[in-house]
Amino acid sequence: MIYDVIIIGGGPAGLTAALYAARAGKKTLLVENYAIGGQASLTHNIENYPGITTSSGFDLTDSMRRQAESFGAEFMYDNIVELSLTGEEKSIRTEYSGTFICKKIILAMGAKAKMLGVDRERELSGRGVSYCATCDGGFYKGKEVAVVGGGDTALIDALYLKDVASKVYLIHRRGEYRGSVSLVAQIRSTQNIVEVLDSQVISLEGSPLEAVIIKSKTAAEPSKIDVKGLFVAVGLEPQTNLVEGEITLEDGYIVTDEEMRTNIPGVFAAGDIRKKTLRQVITACADGAIAASHI
Ligand SMILES: Cc1cc2nc3c(=O)[nH]c(=O)nc-3n(C[C@H](O)[C@H](O)[C@H](O)COP(=O)(O)OP(=O)(O)OC[C@H]3O[C@@H](n4cnc5c(N)ncnc54)[C@H](O)[C@@H]3O)c2cc1C
Repeated sequence: MIYDVIIIGGGPAGLTAALYAARAGKKTLLVENYAIGGQASLTHNIENYPGITTSSGFDLTDSMRRQAESFGAEFMYDNIVELSLTGEEKSIRTEYSGTFICKKIILAMGAKAKMLGVDRERELSGRGVSYCATCDGGFYKGKEVAVVGGGDTALIDALYLKDVASKVYLIHRRGEYRGSVSLVAQIRSTQNIVEVLDSQVISLEGSPLEAVIIKSKTAAEPSKIDVKGLFVAVGLEPQTNLVEGEITLEDGYIVTDEEMRTNIPGVFAAGDIRKKTLRQVITACADGAIAASHI
């Protein structure tokens, strides 16, 4: 049997692609190697998905799964060990379930936030430590928070949080940012952003988070900054290892056109794995819908 489309990744992008493809009558298979819902299922509270005032990420994505399934999308949980992308017929070989052939492939494997690597970080994730300012910033209205990182994402996060939090500490391990000059100028003209350069977060205090301990290159002793939120913006890792060397990447992300086509005919990419400016549930779903509409 030949599938019209195989979708790799069961986050919001993959689930929406499955819904659109199956509803359009395409024989659709979605392959997930961990758990349906992706990064979205890690968050306790999504309050910026239009029409859903508030929902846990699990409930929202589980409802997406059921909706796609109701139109006939098939789901499989397995690891892909081999992927053949070129030619009219494409295929995936899985660890346990065999080989599957399809006409089109949608890559929706998402991206993972890099962790800081300090003790108790995982335990405090969702309890003061966040990897997404746009998602979680709203929980820190009027409170003091810190952002860690020196690239564009960290600078944009700090600028976003300055309107929500009472004060934002921007902690960067180097003396200069990697981010763009214009963003740095905006940071420097903002009163409630405090730059903490040449410094690294070395430990976290409280549960939920109450303070971060930092070590500065210029001070002999570590010091403490009281914050209720720590936004880690030290980079994302797009999950492209299956396709590296074949698909065109930029800064590690898959390059697509507006219809989500990659450089290989019949292969599309959607969601956080794609080169784009806003990585959210709504934009992942939009990508999935667009990709599935062009297969
Ligand atoms: C803590 C946190 C909170 C967030 N809160 C919000 C929020 O409040 N609002 C909002 O809009 N956005 C939020 N986001 C961002 C949002 O979750 C992502 O933008 C969205 O999930 C991206 O969807 P995606 O489908 O592109 O990728 P993902 O959600 O990352 O899903 C990718 C899926 O692909 C699977 N996969 C990876 N590799 C393979 C493989 N080789 N084979 C098979 N499957 C594979 C993964 O297991 C995963 O299930 C948050 C993110 C995080 C981390």
